[in-house]
Amino acid sequence: AVQAARASAGSPLDALTSVWGYDAFRGEQAEIIETVARGDDALVLMPTGGGKSLCYQIPALVREGTGIVVSPLIALMHDQVDALEQLGVRAAFLNSTQQLDERRDVERRLLAGELDLLYLAPERLPAAADLLDRARIALFAIDEAHCVAQWGHDFRPDYLRLSMLHERWPDVPRVALTATATAETREEIVRNLGLGDARVFVSSFDRPNIQYRIAPKQDAKNQLLQIIEAEHPGEAGIVYCLSRASVEKTADWLAGKGITALPYHAGLPAQTRSRNQARFLREDGIVMVATIAFGMGIDKPDVRFVAHLDLPKSVEGYYQETGRAGRDGLPSTAWLAYGLQDVVQQRRMIADGEGDAQRKRAQSLHLDAMLALCETVQCRRQQLLGYFGEPSGPCGNCDTCLNPPEAFDGTVPAQKLMSTILRLKRERGQQFGAGHLVDILLGRETERTLRSRHSELSTFGIGTELGDQEWRGVIRQLLAQGLLEVQGGYGVLALTDAAGAVLRGEQEVRLRREPERVRAARKPRG
Ligand code: ADP
Ligand code: ZN
Repeated sequence: AVQAARASAGSPLDALTSVWGYDAFRGEQAEIIETVARGDDALVLMPTGGGKSLCYQIPALVREGTGIVVSPLIALMHDQVDALEQLGVRAAFLNSTQQLDERRDVERRLLAGELDLLYLAPERLPAAADLLDRARIALFAIDEAHCVAQWGHDFRPDYLRLSMLHERWPDVPRVALTATATAETREEIVRNLGLGDARVFVSSFDRPNIQYRIAPKQDAKNQLLQIIEAEHPGEAGIVYCLSRASVEKTADWLAGKGITALPYHAGLPAQTRSRNQARFLREDGIVMVATIAFGMGIDKPDVRFVAHLDLPKSVEGYYQETGRAGRDGLPSTAWLAYGLQDVVQQRRMIADGEGDAQRKRAQSLHLDAMLALCETVQCRRQQLLGYFGEPSGPCGNCDTCLNPPEAFDGTVPAQKLMSTILRLKRERGQQFGAGHLVDILLGRETERTLRSRHSELSTFGIGTELGDQEWRGVIRQLLAQGLLEVQGGYGVLALTDAAGAVLRGEQEVRLRREPERVRAARKPRG
């Protein structure tokens, strides 16, 4: 088998056909490979499933020496190396999970020139530097390069050390790859890795076969079940939940409804995790209920739906997670349910979380962008691609295109809500959350409105033109638009400075009216 790769080390196309058995390069692969094979640096932005791996694997075969691949996906290195060995490529990895003698053997093979590719965890780099000095290096590939951006959504401090690659081995070409990067993140990658002279390759981020849908959360589990039964019965899917507890609860609940659902989160025993992952990959029609710990680097082509039962922290995360659907190019669904509680919870997590003020500001802006995507009355895809700097038109394959929400002048409802919040604040030191506000606006004589004597407020019962869910929608949207904010840990709502202009009637508020039950027009698949 070793011969296969060696013999191919002629042209990139020879390698593609003789080692991988493919006929032609896709998209910009050929140009990227040529750039790196020639010894120049490259920055590659390509969506999941676009074929990034070949962009460093083939140059590593074509060039003299070993291609060093820096990747944070330690759990996957074993599989990646296995897959390459099956093809006859001489590959190995170095990471913290290995025994000393195993590591020694890899080092020996590297120095003897017996490796085409070596996968390296970023934290091993400083320790491995002397070793690399003594080896012949074909190139450095920096996978998941967005991890070097502090401004990004998935920063990993170990990645900052990768700036040493350029300083210590200035003649070795580098290729940095990512499936998620806004213009800001891209600039930071270039800056932190010293890739100023790199050629930048940006593929379209559009995944036209994925239908994006974002629905107000009512009873998320039942909403999900309905979608699975109506549109994806017996098909593979991933369901993302925020917490480990809700992963387990949801998996149990779905299993109780006759769906083959398995849990996956970092708190499960390693054995359970790998068993569930293996079943998901090998068997048909498994629904994996998981935290975002699941999915990076998972190459399962026929995932027919990705559902989020909780709001992702960023558009980048949302794009990456939904991108795991439909890698085979067939129609797939990305469905997200989100509600007021998500906004409250996420804001609280940012406030209580680790990190300095700048980090929190970045997290806050990431959340704002995610909320804007949820509340848009425009095409979801257009907004999503626009976020990554890619202009496009309405797509015809998302919920807002298929079932356009109505936009309406929500200034008066906003004013009613805001003045209620103001009155609550003025009259007592206590503060109340969204449910109580809605009760007041609807004039409900609940125990709480009566006891607090909020039933005597002048705004009591002035909001009967909207229903319960609609008012919650208004609150959510005002939060998303930065007119309201959540204070403290208990979802207490307060006005922001920007609210003043609305209260004074100087600024109009546009809101999105939710069709009562959003169901995109889509034929169930058989
Ligand atoms: P990414 O890392 O960008 O998510 P991969 O490198 O894992 O994508 O490639 C996705 C899938 O497409 C893999 O199964 C890969 O073998 C396949 N692939 C990549 N390039 C080609 C090509 N030129 N022709 C056919 N299949 C390809
Ligand atoms: Zn659309």
